[in-house]
Amino acid sequence: MLSNKPFIYQRHTGRVLSKREFEEDVISRVSREVSKYDMIDSGDNVLLAVSGGKDSFVLVDTLSRIHDTGKLLAVTVIEGIGVLFREKEVGKMKSLLKSLGIDYVVVSFKEYYGVGMDEIIERVLEKKLTDSPCTFCGVLRRRLLNSVARELGMDKVATAHNLDDEAQTLLMNILRGDYTRLPRLYPKAPVLSTKFVPRIKPIRKIYEYETTAYAYMKGFGFQLGHCPYVDLKPSLRGFVRKLLYRIEDVEPGFSLRLVENVDKILSKAVYSLKKLPELPVCRLCGEPTSYGRELCKVCELLCKIGVVEC
Ligand code: SF4
Ligand code: ZN
Repeated sequence: MLSNKPFIYQRHTGRVLSKREFEEDVISRVSREVSKYDMIDSGDNVLLAVSGGKDSFVLVDTLSRIHDTGKLLAVTVIEGIGVLFREKEVGKMKSLLKSLGIDYVVVSFKEYYGVGMDEIIERVLEKKLTDSPCTFCGVLRRRLLNSVARELGMDKVATAHNLDDEAQTLLMNILRGDYTRLPRLYPKAPVLSTKFVPRIKPIRKIYEYETTAYAYMKGFGFQLGHCPYVDLKPSLRGFVRKLLYRIEDVEPGFSLRLVENVDKILSKAVYSLKKLPELPVCRLCGEPTSYGRELCKVCELLCKIGVVEC
């Protein structure tokens, strides 16, 4: 039973909530977001992408309460960063999932691509490439999750992106003027290939400070370590992250309003995507690629570091 004593000052609403109120607040906001964008249909089998971090604990805890009509299955991707990163945390996540009766699988870059992140970074540095480690990591992780979900017959892939992640991604795309990618970030954007399992982000309106507080409040032993590659190269995401923190300091709720307002704009723009044909496939791996491109991003990156021949 959670206490009724004041627990958290919710900066973006100006309210002070007890643990009980905060739990109800987070669950109802996730539930509203899931129904607002029809993220999950009744009976859907949902693959939960979990890392062992605070956000994935919140994803598992909230979705296991909201979705009770279909199967939930969890997956952890071991990127191969250091000897302990992720692997130590898998144990904590495993016991949580077991207590909730959710099955669990672990997959790795090494077994799927033949190389892990440590080796990829060695090759990137050796070849003096300018791509950031997160580009490799993000692109390879997305592909692996999609393949696992497809092979296991899942209907959706749920990722644990929080509000800070979502606001950063939107702002980065706006700053880059990337008007083709932007509509694809809308939660109800059409899926452009039958080979894609639709991805959903149920906790996209929960701030990172809230996922941290929620995981702490529930006694989850979450991962505190930082990825050694996060600041290896200056990135636009790093810059935008700091910028949004500074704006939030003077204007609490800014990131939430940004995401909500861009959602409204995209709800109109997204109709243009519905007219697009099925995405073409990559000539090397047969997975979807962008219009007008022969190679998908995965093959392009693996080719750059000499893992595949192209
Ligand atoms: Fe991967 Fe580390 Fe970048 Fe996260 S910070 S995307 S784990 S390389
Ligand atoms: Zn390919």
